[in-house]
Amino acid sequence: MSLREKLKALEELQQIDLDAGGVRGETEGIPVRRAEIEAAVAAAKKAYEAEKIRLEDNERERRQIEALLQMERDKVKKWEGRLGDIKTPREYAALSREIDIARKTNESQGEALKALATSAAELQKAVDVQADALSEREMAAQDELAVLAKKSKDFVARLRELDGRRGEAAKKVDPSLLSKYENIKKRRAGIAVCQVVGHTCRGCNRNIPPQLSIVLQRADSVETCPNCNRIIYSAEAVNPPAATG
Ligand SMILES: [Zn+2]
Repeated sequence: MSLREKLKALEELQQIDLDAGGVRGETEGIPVRRAEIEAAVAAAKKAYEAEKIRLEDNERERRQIEALLQMERDKVKKWEGRLGDIKTPREYAALSREIDIARKTNESQGEALKALATSAAELQKAVDVQADALSEREMAAQDELAVLAKKSKDFVARLRELDGRRGEAAKKVDPSLLSKYENIKKRRAGIAVCQVVGHTCRGCNRNIPPQLSIVLQRADSVETCPNCNRIIYSAEAVNPPAATG
C-alpha cells in the first residue's frame, strides 16, 4: 500500500468519523426532543385538569347551595303554614319577620346559584377547549414520537454502516499512522488530517514553509503542519487530476 493510498484511506476514515460524530450528536438529541414532547403533553394535561377542577368545584358549590336552599324553602313553607295557627299579633309579627328574612336570604342564594350556573357554562367551555387542545397535542406527540423512533432506528443502521466502512478504511492504514491520527483527532476537534492547497494548510488556514510544500509534492512521507500539528498532504500529489488524452 503506497503512502498515497494510506493518506486517502486516512482521509476517508476521517470523513467516516466526522459523519459518525454527526449521527451520534443527532442521536443524543433524541431523548431531549422526546422529553420536550412528553413535557408538552403533560402541560396540556395539567391545563385540562386545572379547568376540570374549577368546574368540579363550581358543581360542588352549586349542589351544596341547592341542598341548603331546599331545606330553607321547606322551612319557610312550614312557617307559612304555621301563621294561620298563631293566636297573638305579636307572635304573628315575629314569625312574619322571620319568614321575610328567610325569603330574602333564599332569594340571594338563588341569585348566587344562577351566577354559579352561568360561570359553570363558561367553565365547561374552557374544559372543552382544553380537552381539544390535549387530544390534539397527544395526537401530534404520537406522530412526533413515531418519527423520532424511526430516526433512532435509522441512526443505529447508519452508525452500523459507518462502523463497517471504518473497519475497511482502517485496514488500509498501518497501526502507527492510525494511532497518530487518533491522537491528533483528540486534540484537534476531530480533524486530524487535512489537505494543503497551494501553500495553505486547510486545517489552520496558515501557509506552510515552501520547503515543506516541496516535500509534500513527493507524497512519500507522513508530514504534519508546523502550525496546527495535523497530518497534511498535498491534494494534487495524493489525488492527481485524471490524465487527459
Ligand atoms: Zn495547519
